Amino acid sequence: MSTSAAERPTGPAVRTVLGDLDPADLGVCDAHDHLFLRSPRLAGQELDDVAAAAAELAAFRSAGGASVIQWTPYGMGRRAAELPRLARESGVRIVAATGLHQAVHYAPEVLERVRADLAGVFVGELTEGIGRTGVRAGMIKVAGGFHGLDRHARYTMAAAAEAQHATGAAIGVHLELGTGAPAVLDLLCGELGVAPDRVILGHLNRSPDGVVHRMAAEAGAYLAFDGPSQTHHATDWRLPDALAALTEAGFGDRILLGGDTTTAGARSVNGGPGMPFLLRHHRERLEIALGPALVTQFLTTNPARAFAADWARPAPTVQTS
Ligand SMILES: [Zn+2]
Repeated sequence: MSTSAAERPTGPAVRTVLGDLDPADLGVCDAHDHLFLRSPRLAGQELDDVAAAAAELAAFRSAGGASVIQWTPYGMGRRAAELPRLARESGVRIVAATGLHQAVHYAPEVLERVRADLAGVFVGELTEGIGRTGVRAGMIKVAGGFHGLDRHARYTMAAAAEAQHATGAAIGVHLELGTGAPAVLDLLCGELGVAPDRVILGHLNRSPDGVVHRMAAEAGAYLAFDGPSQTHHATDWRLPDALAALTEAGFGDRILLGGDTTTAGARSVNGGPGMPFLLRHHRERLEIALGPALVTQFLTTNPARAFAADWARPAPTVQTS
């Protein structure tokens, strides 16, 4: 059920699966995670169990969590129809995504289906709803490559920029192993005219290059630090130092935190860190390094600003060809 017209925010709002939300009500936010995810690259580890998703949300809620941004894009098993009930029953706000991941995550026929009008698909999912569910996406997820952008990435980002201009939605970017931020910002903000504060760079912790972190923050983008994960164990432990360096340089208002649970085995209900880890040991560790006020800012006011969009503005006509 959508928020009624009377209580719909008139300014910028976060578009959740239950309707548009005053950003001030977002609360403690896991800014990059997944309840549902399916990819040929993660065969046998799909996140597709609704009961497990509900249990994960309940665990996150009891750890003090209030909202989750699911970065699962088009064609990767988002289960949009399940999200409103999960949000209602758990009391956790959920934001869904449109967008497109790297080509390796799709069967060729899935990409073929959307190729002719990708921006139109994104805008439709942000404004009308995903498929026939009526559940609207609240962000656009795209992906770069290892230190560069292939044709698919450039095409996807051009469509994302077009949808961003039409809707105001934020663009969240999967950086492959945390690399390629300069190329992504050159393309999205330099060539395609997206305002830097509408770009959220994900996985930067996987490449603990403090110079690139600072360049991205200086450019005005948001930096979403996520994990932990077994795959990225080699770099995850550098996170407190990376955040300390950014905040000391004056960029505490650019930082977001997420869990990025991508496999069934990583869910807390299956013995992994899952969503609640962010608010238990992870938060505690970061508070020791940075103090509680900053960590609270990373978990509340920063995501409220990053994901809020001015949905109500008259949308320009989307050029689709
Ligand atoms: Zn992710």
